[in-house]
Amino acid sequence: MSETTFNFCAGPAALPKAVMQQAHAEFLDWRGMGVSVMEISHRSAQYQGLAEKAESDLRKLLGVSDEYAVLFLHGGASHQFANIPMSLLQENDVAEYLCNGIWSNKAAKEAARFGSVKALNVVTQNSANLQEITPSESWQRVENPKYTHYTPNETIEGHRFSEVIQSSGAIVADMSSCILSEVININDFDLIYAGAQKNIGPAGMTIVIVKRDLFNQMDFSRLPKIYNYQAQANNGSMVNTPPTYAWYLSSLVFEWLLSQGGVAAMEALAIDKAALLYSCIDSDDFYANPVAIKNRSRMNIPFTLKNTQLDSLFLELAEKERLVGLQGHRSVGGMRASLYNSMPLAGVQALVDFMQEFKRQHG
Ligand SMILES: *Cc1c(COP(=O)(O)O)cnc(C)c1O
Repeated sequence: MSETTFNFCAGPAALPKAVMQQAHAEFLDWRGMGVSVMEISHRSAQYQGLAEKAESDLRKLLGVSDEYAVLFLHGGASHQFANIPMSLLQENDVAEYLCNGIWSNKAAKEAARFGSVKALNVVTQNSANLQEITPSESWQRVENPKYTHYTPNETIEGHRFSEVIQSSGAIVADMSSCILSEVININDFDLIYAGAQKNIGPAGMTIVIVKRDLFNQMDFSRLPKIYNYQAQANNGSMVNTPPTYAWYLSSLVFEWLLSQGGVAAMEALAIDKAALLYSCIDSDDFYANPVAIKNRSRMNIPFTLKNTQLDSLFLELAEKERLVGLQGHRSVGGMRASLYNSMPLAGVQALVDFMQEFKRQHG
């Protein structure tokens, strides 16, 4: 039996072992202060230093210039489902939402509470009965949208857009489950947001990267100040007490990522990890993944057993092998393996070994 537990949970998700060990080691005494980092003022010089270092490391990792503000905000990605249209969507504006899964649909539905939204269904069941994102030429696009929102990686269905979306309006992307896992050109986007609990840190914090130019198109006059992106940018995300411990853990993750070779190294590893698992799933019809190859996610890989009656036995035996968090989302069932940056190749290999053995015994 394996000594190591590999956690495939979709979110809140596993953090890098080295980061957890460092946080553990300095839990009671941070940098010789004799207290925990969560017990000190966010205005203290020590905490300010941490906050600034985290921001500059994240800028380095993603190549973010000073044209963009980087915000460390309270709450989940779902807060941004509201915060974005509340800020950007004025009377006479239309927002365009590309919808291909549960999260993008939720984002569109929430935005419609604040203004005019056109939601485009961009996913279809292809002739091989696989979910496929339709070609952008076939979409009935909005003529002059205030912004176009999409979800480059749909966490529940396991879809990935294979291209960056273009729009005559601003490009807004929910990168909650793929940020820092592939190289992006930041200039392709006007606003990126990501809940921390998938690929950054613990739950309770969301990162927003927003082009400062976009502030000119936002109306903050009727919003609570706490939702005012520009005020947050002007105050180093400290309009009020920020989620200091989540910010701290994220800072350790950014340092860890830099030490591992940054986002390019994570992307290469993600491609290898996903290829290993998909090739096991595809080797015959015992396992199946429902997504067309060009749109398969590298981060979240749902799979089913041909005989669904074996699902609970599969999960039970996997857990005995210390392969945890494999249960599919309650809305789709089956299994799902999330392979975020913290998952080593050895974890995917252990899962594949288990899957092959399970097939040998039950196929
Ligand atoms: C998890 C997730 C969300 C929701 O995040 P909360 O922090 O629970 O609000 C939104 N979008 C995507 C793509 C996600 O993966």
